[in-house]
Amino acid sequence: MKLKHAIFALSFLGIFSLPLLSQKSDSDELPYLWNELSAPDFVKAVELSDGICLLPAGIIEKHGPHLPLSTDLILSREIASRAAELEYALVYPEFYFGQIYEAKHQPGTVAYSPELVWKMLEETCEEMSRNGIKKIIIVNGHGGNNNLFAYFCQAQLAKRKDYVVVFFQPDDKQLDAEVTKLRTTDYGGHADEEETSMLYTIRPDLVHTDQATSQSGRDQLRLNIPYGYTGIWWYASFPNHYAGDGSSPNKTIGEMIFKSRAEQLAELVKFLKTDDSASKLQKQFYQQTDNPLETEQ
Ligand SMILES: [Zn+2]
Repeated sequence: MKLKHAIFALSFLGIFSLPLLSQKSDSDELPYLWNELSAPDFVKAVELSDGICLLPAGIIEKHGPHLPLSTDLILSREIASRAAELEYALVYPEFYFGQIYEAKHQPGTVAYSPELVWKMLEETCEEMSRNGIKKIIIVNGHGGNNNLFAYFCQAQLAKRKDYVVVFFQPDDKQLDAEVTKLRTTDYGGHADEEETSMLYTIRPDLVHTDQATSQSGRDQLRLNIPYGYTGIWWYASFPNHYAGDGSSPNKTIGEMIFKSRAEQLAELVKFLKTDDSASKLQKQFYQQTDNPLETEQ
């Protein structure tokens, strides 16, 4: 299964076509990948998942000089798949639309317009809901998407929805401390030792460690605006679209991160299977927004 999922990392683009696994009718052996289910099994899968679907998200962008353009997509798909194996949920094909304007100067980057990105996000959720998914969990593998997805969650309150969008926020201080001890570098953030280790764990064939030091992944310190945020900050610091040093990947680090992320995500899925507080509060909120003058003061 693992190898199959890894190879399927770009299957949403129709690049690969692998022989299908046999479709099992027994509900506890249902595949979790949305696109691998037959239509009759899809109905069972929605029921088995309690209407929960994971949306692995990433982007197509340069990852230093040594990693493939779809690194984030491969990693978020792996985390979502491992979580679904621990606690059943549907897993949507990778979402490769997002915020990546800061890397438009690098070869291979695909940066759709903000309008299209928003539309794709919105309509992807609408289509999930139309198919019985009422709890959507975004599993993000791309740092440049963090503000976008947080804002997307906030924007759910603008209009009545019959589903809830949850943005997975892993938090494991023990993992962070252990990884720090194992690391040989003390800087990073993009295509660095950690991210390279993760990809190396599942797709070593895509990691070109011999190229990892051919460009600088150091902060170039080209901008210093006090108390201000501006979009060019990343380009100012990391014009090579590389932050860190990925020349010494470590499978122990990669496996530790996958394990922790998958376990926390599975815990979130399990929680949402029985907890409806977010959907109930959302419903109550929409009702109140129709008549704000009736809200108790
Ligand atoms: Zn990345």
